Amino acid sequence: MKLHLYNTLTRSNQLFAPLKPDVVRMYSCGPTVYNYAHIGNIRAFLFPDLLQRVLRVVCGYRVEWVMNITDIEDKIILDSSLGSATWKPEMGVQTNNPNDNAAKLALFYEREFLNDLSIIGIKRSDFHAIPRATDFIGEITALVRKIVENGFGYESDGSVYFNLAEWRKSEKYGQLFTIDTENFRAGVRIDADEYDRDQVSDFVLWKAHKEGEPSWDFELNGKNLRGRPGWHIECSAMGHATLGLPFDIHTGGVDLRFPHHEDEIAQSKAGYGVETSAFWCHNEFLEVEGTKMSKSKGNFFTLRDLLDKGLDAMDIRFAMMSAQYNSVFNFTFFGLESARKARFRIQDYIHDLHESPLDSSALTSSYISEFRREVFAELLNNLHTPKALERVFAYINAHPAGSLDEESRNHLIAFFRELNAIFEVWVISKRPEKHVEIPEEVRNYAEQRWQAKIERNFALADQMRLKISELGFTVLDSKDSYTIEELPH
Ligand code: AMP
Ligand code: ZN
Repeated sequence: MKLHLYNTLTRSNQLFAPLKPDVVRMYSCGPTVYNYAHIGNIRAFLFPDLLQRVLRVVCGYRVEWVMNITDIEDKIILDSSLGSATWKPEMGVQTNNPNDNAAKLALFYEREFLNDLSIIGIKRSDFHAIPRATDFIGEITALVRKIVENGFGYESDGSVYFNLAEWRKSEKYGQLFTIDTENFRAGVRIDADEYDRDQVSDFVLWKAHKEGEPSWDFELNGKNLRGRPGWHIECSAMGHATLGLPFDIHTGGVDLRFPHHEDEIAQSKAGYGVETSAFWCHNEFLEVEGTKMSKSKGNFFTLRDLLDKGLDAMDIRFAMMSAQYNSVFNFTFFGLESARKARFRIQDYIHDLHESPLDSSALTSSYISEFRREVFAELLNNLHTPKALERVFAYINAHPAGSLDEESRNHLIAFFRELNAIFEVWVISKRPEKHVEIPEEVRNYAEQRWQAKIERNFALADQMRLKISELGFTVLDSKDSYTIEELPH
């Protein structure tokens, strides 16, 4: 089955086909690990997770999914200084060497992040690689060198910049995002990794060493430019090293279109001479009361904040998956509650399917095939999860679980299993048998009652029964033994 995907590069819903037969190579911009991920960030990873699952489960492709870890960047350095809010004593602040502190901070939050991914149902085994920027310094410096050799980069004060004026003579800059070049002046440089569209300038590829910052040697034209990479060049080098260029799909949040992705496209082409990716796909923001959730605005919840409030990670996952990835998701607690109800409506139906009696006169298997085709068609239409779920609800509302013969019931259960390989929020089985631990006290009373009955001391037996029921249990007698059961709540 064929997938249509919105491609920011062509500004259209495009029919997807991988560049190499049967394997889809996909790169997702990962987190900058200087703090706990907030659930807005998590949306940016649930989107490629959904996409890779649809590509595997519905389209039948093998997927090589790479998500990087940005473990060297301005914010990490800033926050690894002693006394910063995200620096925690348990990371072990026992060194004055700032190089170590940045690495420790990054490693700490990388672990927390990977843990969050598994809590939210993103599986480690679904990744082809999770490269860390600091493990690719050799590839990064090689790329900077190539860009300079090809005439699109230059050194200034120990840093290396991308020569945008030179690049724009023959190449397009601003493919994903409409860029404001009115203020652009050739040779004006910007050292920050993040900047606005009206600050388009020669952006930094390699940053000269500053006192107290982590740094690496970099030999360029016989000079050692000790320093560290800019943010954008990291993804160019890691995408090339782990997947080869061009690959099929590049993902990230809409805020990454410019400058991060725009600069990535320019760097990779200037250095490697090839395009980066056939499809560029961007998730919209998760908002709180009309404002993007972000660390800097302070309007954020981390996953652990929500779990601490007693919320279930599967409800958070389902709530986010219930909205189309490229529409704004408005986060509310009421929304999470509704998502929970909706999730359980489907969960109950799946349990009922296993438990209800069969009806041989009922729906045929081809009816289920058609239902499956319709649900998948919605997912193949740019991952339209809300419409796919709408079809699931329409089906379960119209067809009680008992209205199936054996073949069509098995068929429907198999379909829910496939659907869960995408949504990953249900249990595809009978209701689990509740295992009730019977307290020692209850067992003692029950035994005393049984002895009292044998001795025909019915008054004592009744007293024991009362004590047992006060503890929430009851005894059922048969001819020569008894069982203990929990009373319904
Ligand atoms: P960062 O760790 O800041 O580099 O962000 C990691 C990913 O989260 C990027 O793809 C961002 O575009 C994305 N992101 C950040 N804030 C939000 C938000 N409120 N909603 C959705 N995605 C976001
Ligand atoms: Zn990136």
